[in-house]
Amino acid sequence: MTPNIRAAVFDIDGTLALMNKEAGTFTALPGAIDALAACRAAGVKVVAYTNGTFFPPAHYYPLLADAGIVIDEGHILTPAAVAAQALARMGYTRIMVMGGDGTRVPVQDAGIQVVDPTPDAGPVDAVLLGYTRDFGATELESVVQAVWDGATPFAGSVAPYFASSKGRMLGISGAIAAALENATDTKVTVFGKPETAGLDIVTALTGAQPSEMAVIGDDPKLEIRMGRKAGAFCVGVTTGIADTAKFMGFPEEERAHAVLDDLTGFAAQPWFPKVPA
Ligand SMILES: [Mg+2]
Repeated sequence: MTPNIRAAVFDIDGTLALMNKEAGTFTALPGAIDALAACRAAGVKVVAYTNGTFFPPAHYYPLLADAGIVIDEGHILTPAAVAAQALARMGYTRIMVMGGDGTRVPVQDAGIQVVDPTPDAGPVDAVLLGYTRDFGATELESVVQAVWDGATPFAGSVAPYFASSKGRMLGISGAIAAALENATDTKVTVFGKPETAGLDIVTALTGAQPSEMAVIGDDPKLEIRMGRKAGAFCVGVTTGIADTAKFMGFPEEERAHAVLDDLTGFAAQPWFPKVPA
């Protein structure tokens, strides 16, 4: 079966680029720049979707452009940006956000009023959890009270931890989500990978259905799981956290359709759309 690929959804870290954690800059991974150029030449729309929630999407455009990776305005997604756009489409207008600028800015950009987690915040429709180190018991009590009062709880990501140059770092929003669920007996709805909400936003951006997307990533549990769940064509690259054996170790129905050493020759693959003559 040859997929009809109309949009390509690339992970950023370990797929398109590597971040220099000290300098905060990116370096393009082999073949990444050519792969994006080939997508454009073939009429395949490009979206970059990171699972990081530290920064708002606007943070990434100039840093990636400095590495030669130019992404169209509005085509970089983070879990918080996916959450914000999904919540706007669901009709939420006033949301208590427990998170830093990486979460607050996309919610504001989606036209939703951001309410701080304070005891006198007043009624809110929803609570959204994101990465922050700037909180105490008062903030935690305020989001719990909001859910007790009927607000629906959401989070960008509930990963227990993530990799950094210093080793494992605690996933704060996952810890807060566990506390919130413990206190309220209410399940927190998650938008980040491997949930498929991000691909709904890609459809809204590009017009491509998930079956017309290639999802490319270095993490079999995040990008590949998300893509397979949605019915996309899934491509693993071994420039990040997993090698070929790890990708191939998943059951057939959860496995990447193709695994590449890196993005070199991406457009030469048999499943890549032919450039119209
Ligand atoms: Mg990655």
